[in-house]
Order: sequence, then structure tokens, then C-alpha cells
Amino acid sequence: METIAIIGAGPSGLFMLKNLLKHSKQNRVISIFEKKQNLGAGMPYSEEGANVEHVTNVSANEIPELVTSVAEWLEGVPADVLDFYKINANHLNEYKVLPRLLFGSYLEAQFHLLLLAAERSGVTINLYLNATITDIKDSASSNIVKISLENGDHFEFNRVVICTGHSWPKNLEGKIDGYFDSPYPPAKLKFKANHPVAIKGSSLTAIDAIRTLSRFNGNYFLNEDKELQFEKNADSPEFKIVMHSRSGLLPAVRFHLEDSHLASNYLLSDREIEEHIQNNEGFLSLDYIFDQDFKKILLERDPNLYATIASMKLEEFTETMLNYREGFDAFELLRQEYENAARSINRKESIYWKELLAILSFALNYPAKYLAAEDMMRLQKSLMPLISVVIAFVPQTSAAELLALHQAGVLEIIAVGEDSEVVENSSGGINYNYIDETGTQSVYYKTFVNCVGQPHLSIDSFPFKGLCDGTITPATLKFKNKDTGKKAIGENKNVFKSNEDFLLNVPGIRINDDFQVVGDDGKANDRIFVMVVPYIGGYNPDYSGLDFCEEASGRIANALL
Ligand SMILES: Cc1cc2nc3c(=O)[nH]c(=O)nc-3n(C[C@H](O)[C@H](O)[C@H](O)COP(=O)(O)OP(=O)(O)OC[C@H]3O[C@@H](n4cnc5c(N)ncnc54)[C@H](O)[C@@H]3O)c2cc1C
Repeated sequence: METIAIIGAGPSGLFMLKNLLKHSKQNRVISIFEKKQNLGAGMPYSEEGANVEHVTNVSANEIPELVTSVAEWLEGVPADVLDFYKINANHLNEYKVLPRLLFGSYLEAQFHLLLLAAERSGVTINLYLNATITDIKDSASSNIVKISLENGDHFEFNRVVICTGHSWPKNLEGKIDGYFDSPYPPAKLKFKANHPVAIKGSSLTAIDAIRTLSRFNGNYFLNEDKELQFEKNADSPEFKIVMHSRSGLLPAVRFHLEDSHLASNYLLSDREIEEHIQNNEGFLSLDYIFDQDFKKILLERDPNLYATIASMKLEEFTETMLNYREGFDAFELLRQEYENAARSINRKESIYWKELLAILSFALNYPAKYLAAEDMMRLQKSLMPLISVVIAFVPQTSAAELLALHQAGVLEIIAVGEDSEVVENSSGGINYNYIDETGTQSVYYKTFVNCVGQPHLSIDSFPFKGLCDGTITPATLKFKNKDTGKKAIGENKNVFKSNEDFLLNVPGIRINDDFQVVGDDGKANDRIFVMVVPYIGGYNPDYSGLDFCEEASGRIANALL
């Protein structure tokens, strides 16, 4: 009997089980450990990450295949549940986003259907709920991985896939009044705030906080022209939300995707990428992938835009696109993008360059570990800021709420540049310090919510200390040009010398293409696989979302079985 453990039964654990079952033979036992009572929903789609007002940023047709489709599953959802979420069954279609908690119920139902399918096909599954894993220890000599539970139990397995997901470390929350290290769980933001609230960040995490705070300090209604409006509660006259972001940009609005699964037949194949790496001294060139997986496809899809960017290098392209956004008032651009996105959805016509940027980001995710340190620094400095605003894909209802809040004078955004700081106040609240065109500012806020999104965490905070004996190691990238590396040592605290090489520390741990951890002997460990969002961002810069759960678990299942 081969024994496999899945640790964590959120969306990653769900897709892991699905992909293992595709291959499973009857001489395999799969054990699943989940610290909560519920399966499938994980953090974003349970009360840990959502209230009733929070919605997914993908629609049903963008969700990788599970057992039943969302549409089929919704047909069986009782009318009172749909009423609770204010969903009109006649208006449902596969292009609509869903309340995250309802979507969590869908994922839970899929988990149970998979368990049923496993039972029917004779695969043994041991399910442990309310089972928190506290440590993991690898033994190469006995080819066994030992896991320890909070209740004192121990188990041994041949293979372990760690799917323990999101982690939001608490720093000052609970110590400083009015200070929130993240907006999760969002129930903590259900309070009256008769004062301006500072938010750090302006993307989807910020929107989660805004959706909750606004509902507890006012209400939304439709005017005669069916436009969404907001009005403050009588007892919150001073309520206001101020977003702070580096460049003062808001994320782009969801539009119609031509390929809802962000695939493209025109993308470089794994084999082509491998050949390129071999012929390029073992490195993936960022310029090559930008040319092949973005520009070349843009030529096919939007020749006019291609003509204007054809001669641009990556940096010039990202600067042009960001400058274009910065040239507008952020809310005016949001309104325009909201209208353009509505047209795109009605006509089922993509906005190609944005779709291609999402595809590029997805395509880059896996081979990013082969980038030279120089190219990773370019990616972080140039491409990621554009990707993060363009492919966040704000759902229509969220965009409408942001516009209504802004129109009511309740929401604004401030560009605070690279060097702003948030200084906590021991008697409560914070001061937001930044420089703008009028000089140095230091603004006091009684309430502060850090909404920068899931932080990339370092190996030091990895939850299973038994693996920190050299079984897991920090992720690094090598400089292609030693002179550049040598020069970077003084300028960048993440650069260091090891033997004759210059290396850049990137967030998280080292994994190979199959998500196996790489130890201090430089070898991939064929017993331990990791798909834990906060710890693999260094080698997978855009790792998040259900499409990645599907892709990563598919690769793990192929390697594992
Ligand atoms: C707020 C938010 C909204 C998002 N919305 C979307 C969206 O709309 N669309 C989209 O595609 N992506 C979205 N994402 C991306 C999201 O990362 C993935 O969809 C998904 O949650 C990742 O699943 P996971 O199972 O890896 O992690 P998690 O969802 O965090 O699940 C991890 C599971 O492991 C369990 N666990 C943790 N530690 C232990 C332990 N020690 N022992 C046992 N069990 C443990 C947890 O209880 C949990 O069930 C969102 C992310 C966030 C944070």
C-alpha cells in the first residue's frame, strides 16, 4: 500500500484530491487532514475570508472543472438560500460572479462528491476533520514522512502534499487600538466608524474591506436612472475611506475573456521553453517570453495595438501603460473601464491586451524559477506593478460600489509613493506619513486596515519546523552576469555571494517544477510537495487563484503517481 497525505482541505486540497483520483489505483490510501470542520471552502470562501457581501472575482465559466458545474449545482440550491444572497435565479448565468460564501458551499459539495466517487471506485480515503497538523518531519533513510497532530497523534506516510494555504500574520492588531493587520476575517470590520478610515492598498483586498465598512456606515440604493448611489448613516456623518497606494491607481474592471481559462494555443510549449533555457546558459529570458507569449499573440489578436508597441522593450511597454493610467483621475478611469467592460461583456468581445497580460502572467508563473536574478528584478520592478493593477479583474458590482462611494464623497485614493510609512500610535490609530506635490504629510487616522493582500512569507515563519532541518531551503536566483551581481550586493540587501555565484533571495522556499521541495543538497525531495500560497511566491510570482490550484495539483499528481 502506498500512503499519501493531503494536509489542508481547502481549494488546493480539493483540486489535489480530484487530480489524484484521476490516476488512483486501489493499492493507494489517501489521508486528508483539515483543521476545520468543513471541507473545500478554505479561507477566501468561508467566514475566515468572507461575509455575505463578498463576491468571487471569477465567474462560473472560469472555474476549472470539478464534479458538477456551478450552474448544475445552483439548480439544486433552495430558493431561500438564493433569497438570502439576493440572487434572482432568472438572472443567473455562467458569466456572473458569485457570493464567496455561497461559492464555498459549492466547493464543499464538490469535495463530498469526490469522496463519494473515491468510495465507489474502491480507493480508500481516511478523512480527519478538526485535525490540526503541528509538525512534519522527513526521513530520507526510511523513505517516510512523519506528521504530528495537535492532539498528540502521529502518522507516517510515503508522500505528503502540503496545502495549508493562506496565512495573515498579526503584528500590531490587538495591541494598538484601531489597527488591523489585514481585513480578515472580515466580520471584525462590521463596526460604526464615524471618522476617516485609512486603508493601505487599493486592490481586491482593499475592496473587501470597503464592501464591509461601507455597509456598516451607510447604505446603497438605486436612483431613478438605476444608478447605484450611497448615502451615509445619520450616525456616521464623518465616515470616509481613504485608500493609499504607491501610484494612486485603481485595479481594472472585469471584462469578457475570450478564453475563460486563460489558456492560449499560441503560448510557448513546455518543450520550447526547455530548449530556450538550454540554449541560454540555463536561464529563461524575460524578453524572450515577453516577445513570444505576449507581443507575438497580440499581433494576431489586436494588430493596431501591436503596431504601437511593436518596437517597445518590456520596460517601455509597462511604463507606457502605467503612464496612461496615471494620466487619468483614478475614479474617472474606473468609470470609463466600467463602461468599456460592460460593452465587452454585452458583445462578448475581449479587451485583448489585458487578457493577454493575464495569460502572460499565468504562463510566466511556472518557468519564473529559471529567470536570472537580473530578470526577476526587472519583473518585480516593471511588469508586476502593471500586472497587479490590470489583471485583478474587479467584479462589476464592486466597481459600481466604488463609484457610488466616490460620488458620495466617501471614498478617495492618495498616491503615497515608494517611501511612505505607517507609524502606529501607542494610544491608538496611526499616522500615515508620505510626500506629495505639496510637501511632507503626516495624517492621523483612528482606524487603519492593511489591505496589501497575502504577504509573501519567508522560510523563518514556515509552520512546520521539523522541515527546517535542510529539507526545505530558501528560494534564490543566480545572477547571469557576475559583475551585475557583485554591483548589486551593496545596493540590494537580498543579494549575496555563495561560492563563486552571486544570488538573489526571493520570497519563500525552493521548489522544482513539480512543486517538490528542494533540500540543502540541491535535490528535489520525492516525498514532500508544497502548494502553500504564501511560501512559493518567489518562484511563482503570480501564484493564486483556482486556476493555479488546478494547474499545480495536476503537476503534483503527475509527478507523484
Ligand atoms: C480574500 C481572497 C479572495 C480570493 N478570491 C478568489 C477568487 O474569487 N477567485 C480565485 O480564483 N481566487 C481567489 N483567491 C485566491 C485563493 O488563493 C485561492 O482560490 C485558494 O483559496 C487557495 O486555496 P488553498 O487551499 O491553497 O488555501 P486556503 O483557502 O487558505 O485553504 C487552506 C486549508 O488548509 C487548512 N489548514 C491550514 N493549516 C492547517 C493545519 N496546520 N492542519 C490542517 N489543516 C490546515 C485550512 O483550514 C484551510 O481549509 C482569493 C484569495 C483571497 C485571500
